[in-house]
Amino acid sequence: MATDAEEANEDRRKYEFRKVIEELKDFEGSGTQLVTIYIPEDKQISDVVAHVTQEHSEAANIKSKQTRTNVQDALTSIKDRLRYYDTFPPENGIVIFSGAVDAGGGQTDMVTRTLESPPQPVESFRYHCDSNFLTDPLEHMLADKGLFGLVVLDRREANVGWLRGKRVEPVKSASSLVPGKQRKGGQSAQRFARLRLEAIDNFYQEVAGMANDLFVPDRHELDGVLVGGPSPTKDEFLDGDYLHHELRDKVIGKFDVSYTDESGLYDLVDAAEDALADQEIMQDKSQMEEFFEKLHTGEEATYGFDATRRNLIMGSVDRLLLSEDLRSDVVVYDCPNDHEEFEVVDRRHSTPSHECSECGEEAEVQEREDVIEHLMGIAEQRGTETKFISTDFEKGEQLLDAFGGIAGILRYSTGV
Ligand SMILES: [Zn+2]
Repeated sequence: MATDAEEANEDRRKYEFRKVIEELKDFEGSGTQLVTIYIPEDKQISDVVAHVTQEHSEAANIKSKQTRTNVQDALTSIKDRLRYYDTFPPENGIVIFSGAVDAGGGQTDMVTRTLESPPQPVESFRYHCDSNFLTDPLEHMLADKGLFGLVVLDRREANVGWLRGKRVEPVKSASSLVPGKQRKGGQSAQRFARLRLEAIDNFYQEVAGMANDLFVPDRHELDGVLVGGPSPTKDEFLDGDYLHHELRDKVIGKFDVSYTDESGLYDLVDAAEDALADQEIMQDKSQMEEFFEKLHTGEEATYGFDATRRNLIMGSVDRLLLSEDLRSDVVVYDCPNDHEEFEVVDRRHSTPSHECSECGEEAEVQEREDVIEHLMGIAEQRGTETKFISTDFEKGEQLLDAFGGIAGILRYSTGV
């Protein structure tokens, strides 16, 4: 099980990835000259170097001299980066972006970014050369939240597996000996029906056993269970109390799926798309509801940069709530009388001048930093959990628009 510290670290890394991806998405090459390489953890670095060397020599055939030079420069830069690694990439692999990006006015800038150990494994080696960097696979990994148990079944076959983020992992399958609906001659109809029901019951028990063995040990991490299959099988299975009671409480829904082999697990995830999207923001919703409740009924809530920061430093913040769409920097000012003040500015805007609110003197800029990194840094030191809140629902939007994207649920009231 992940500890709070590990989880906080993972949130932070995800945020850092998101930030780099946003930057990369904005870049454009004037030709097909931006190179992206996805390297899985089991790919030998020497193989990748060989591939890049090959691409480098093939790039000699590119007609436009400028594109040719740019592509070759990008590949050289990637080879330089690869020298930092030994035999294999670090856990989950590496993604490298390199290329000459449009800097306006006919100028280009050489940009190279390496992202190590993404939140989920890089699944296959990809070499991509285009007028944009290839960020989709990484974005998918970052959008991924949650762990779900999957069960598909009919009366003859069943499969169980995991949905981790957007990745389906088939784990186990079973097939039944349930006889068909036609009885053989000589068998009494009653006896046949009883045997058939018994066989169905046995099979459901077997499937539930498989699901219980797989999901129960991870029930505390589990965000939900999805069950799929034709009717009435899935209904019989769920209504029949076969699943462990703690899993039953986590069933998000049952879905019509025609296949019950491994491909049925993928169909199930497709069929459950809406339910999964709701589930994903459900946690964000409950955080925001708790925040508003505390805000209205008492003083165990804080918001805005200054108050939230003060509370964080006091160690009184239980959970720091940051809007996923917050794109601001904080500027730290120091006046001649040593008053330290902060101003939050849009990331795209230049640093404004600042007059000290205490003594009216012109204050000097000490530092400009990403506001999320600034607050998360303090939160980590104080053992405060950080939650990123989506803007895909009303209260999430309010966090961004009405509270500057920054709020906190307090452990106790502090009056600041
Ligand atoms: Zn001052």
